[in-house]
Amino acid sequence: MNADVIRIERPTTSSKLFAHTRWDAIPTAAGLFHLAYLLGLYFVFPHTPLWAMLVLGFVYSLMINANINGVGHNFIHNPFFRSGLLNRLFGVTQSIACCFSQTMYDAVHMQHHKGNSDRQDENGDTIDWLSIYRHGDDGEAENPWSYVFLSFFRDDVGAIRKELRKRNNGDDFWGKLELAAFATTLLVMTIVVPTNPIHFINWRFILFFLPFWYLGHCFSYLNGYYRHYGANPEKPIAWGVSSYGKIYNWLFFYNGYHAEHHLLSSKSPVESGALALQIFFEASAQFFFFRFAVLL
Ligand SMILES: [Zn+2]
Ligand SMILES: [Zn+2]
Repeated sequence: MNADVIRIERPTTSSKLFAHTRWDAIPTAAGLFHLAYLLGLYFVFPHTPLWAMLVLGFVYSLMINANINGVGHNFIHNPFFRSGLLNRLFGVTQSIACCFSQTMYDAVHMQHHKGNSDRQDENGDTIDWLSIYRHGDDGEAENPWSYVFLSFFRDDVGAIRKELRKRNNGDDFWGKLELAAFATTLLVMTIVVPTNPIHFINWRFILFFLPFWYLGHCFSYLNGYYRHYGANPEKPIAWGVSSYGKIYNWLFFYNGYHAEHHLLSSKSPVESGALALQIFFEASAQFFFFRFAVLL
């Protein structure tokens, strides 16, 4: 075996529904549960005391983080279904659940893998739009507070759509459709108060909901920050920072194996194949769902 190239066999399944493994029923159910939870928030709001709603809203925020970095991330690298249409429809459900666009997240995330949280070049630019160095000074990582709370507003929809158009596979259309789907859902939730009889102008709910939506995406950026803070963009083996805690990895569908994920997702040869293999096998010994961990 060539020491500089790591090959991992992709799992195969005889399932007619799932493309890679029947285990993907778990992240699929988790994603759909997140969507049901959002709808649940909307319907119980008029009948539930505020203190309880604040708890439920906070849980929704945590779920955005787990969904984006767990379910959504796995889905980008391994679309769950054999049917292309089913993958598209699942992307729409993900988009409504997180109130973003799963397909646009795909473009941003693949850009993340191109740059691997790179440092600024001589023009002050980074390949990775999410790089923690992109808005930092003097070659340092940006401070976590501004990264976490400002990244939500930094998405460049024009650049994202340009990437999606380049793919020429319908992603640009579906990205727009997903944005329209979540915007329409929020609009209906803003207009209709789900009481019997129904009332109109649900300003209390939307005032409650928007901060938790924003907070959920901030949690996701917080997660991303510490998956790269302390990493070394110059060393492929240290592109990401891993966490091997069992509970974290169960909640985030093995997103904790982030250094391994960046290394193995890269097509470039690693600097030291032997060292990479050693790290990889030590990590994989702890894997429960092997595929979740490597996310190839
Ligand atoms: Zn990835
Ligand atoms: Zn990363």
